[in-house]
Amino acid sequence: MCRNGSGWDDPLPAELGPRWEKWMSDLPKIAAIRIPRCLKPSQFSEVKSTQLHHFSDASTLGYGQCSYLRIQDHQDRECSTLLMGKSRVAPTKITTIPHLELTAAVVSVKISQILKEELHLTKGEEIFWTDSQVVLGYINNEARRFHTFVANRVQMIRESTDVGAFKERPPSKDLDPFTDDSGILRVGGRLRNSSLPLFVKHPVIFPKDSHISRLIAAHFHEKVHHQGRGITLNELRANGFWIICGGGLISSLIRKCVICRRNRRPTQEQKMADLPEDRVESSPPFSYCGMDCFGPFITKQGRKNFKRYGLLFTCLCSRAVHVELLDDLSTDAFINGLPLPLPPPGKFVPQDMYLRKRWRRVQYLTEQFWSRWRKEHLQNLNRRQCWAKPRRNIEVGDIVLILEPEVARNRWPMGVVVVAAKDKDNLVRKAKVQVGTRKLNQQGKREVKLTFLERPVQKLVLLLEST
Ligand SMILES: [Zn+2]
Repeated sequence: MCRNGSGWDDPLPAELGPRWEKWMSDLPKIAAIRIPRCLKPSQFSEVKSTQLHHFSDASTLGYGQCSYLRIQDHQDRECSTLLMGKSRVAPTKITTIPHLELTAAVVSVKISQILKEELHLTKGEEIFWTDSQVVLGYINNEARRFHTFVANRVQMIRESTDVGAFKERPPSKDLDPFTDDSGILRVGGRLRNSSLPLFVKHPVIFPKDSHISRLIAAHFHEKVHHQGRGITLNELRANGFWIICGGGLISSLIRKCVICRRNRRPTQEQKMADLPEDRVESSPPFSYCGMDCFGPFITKQGRKNFKRYGLLFTCLCSRAVHVELLDDLSTDAFINGLPLPLPPPGKFVPQDMYLRKRWRRVQYLTEQFWSRWRKEHLQNLNRRQCWAKPRRNIEVGDIVLILEPEVARNRWPMGVVVVAAKDKDNLVRKAKVQVGTRKLNQQGKREVKLTFLERPVQKLVLLLEST
């Protein structure tokens, strides 16, 4: 308006009317703005260090600066607060960008003096950031004589601050954003001159932690049929969206996505439990054991074939195994298959020389066995080979997939956890899962009875947390 020669009392040009009115209508919102008086957050302890950071920049339209206070407390928590900012429109008479940038730096130095005085800051670091190498060159060059405009300002800066406090702000090479005609922030970058469509060349920039960004990412993740992070990210960019740190956002989205979990998530893990007493105390072999049947096998007696089963015993303590043969899988056959109890060690009666010798030999071997068992086997058990960290416990109400090695993953049954019993160390290692279908008959009753399965958590895939 100044350039067009409008006077103070002239009516507003028609094309500026709506902008003026919009600005006016925003004014009442100022009443809602709250600025905390204290620069230190309430939960902060005593401040350990303070830094003032001043940023200055310029463009053909104007120049400005802003100053931040960065404080750190004794727990190394950090907090940055905006203290002050100044912006001015560029002077109407033609000037260069480096000159405007230098002027902005001078404003920063002046603001710094005001802030230090007002905040009673006597110690602490102070940094002036600029992305103009010309300005840095001016300030650091002691040898050259400058044009009056530059010389005056450089002198002012040198007198008031430590020259070393001026630093170059790292330029963002890949992402040099700009606002388009509709006020939308877009990625600049080196594709500016390519023939790609505008929205691909210059995708719209979205912040990382916003609901909209999450919705957009979820939309494209679904569009690529729940493929991984890279493909989702490419799809997003090919459609003209650029989410800052988008990879991280998409990873967290995929981690929580129920369909992806159903397709790919590994089964649950939990820190291994302490070994029960019967596995770490030395005891006669097979005092505590596990057993299982296997088979059948065809055996030959004479010219006849018989079906036979194996009964396997594993000693929980020494890990020794023992196999018996069973005629069939009946209870009677099982009881018959149990070996007669062995005499516990020390019950051999050394009656004669031969037996005594034999007894000593057995005693010697037994001692050897247990000493090696303690040294080698028990030490190995002590290291938890996997599942070393406690994980989130399975909880009642969690929706899970139950691993069934016999069938393909897409046919694993889904269920809801109804019991999640905690061990002594408060970790859940097995859960009872209710499996059923929603099919109801015409009387509104279930067609298929609910089944309850008890499974170790390593056989469950968590689809949806109850909370
Ligand atoms: Zn998914």
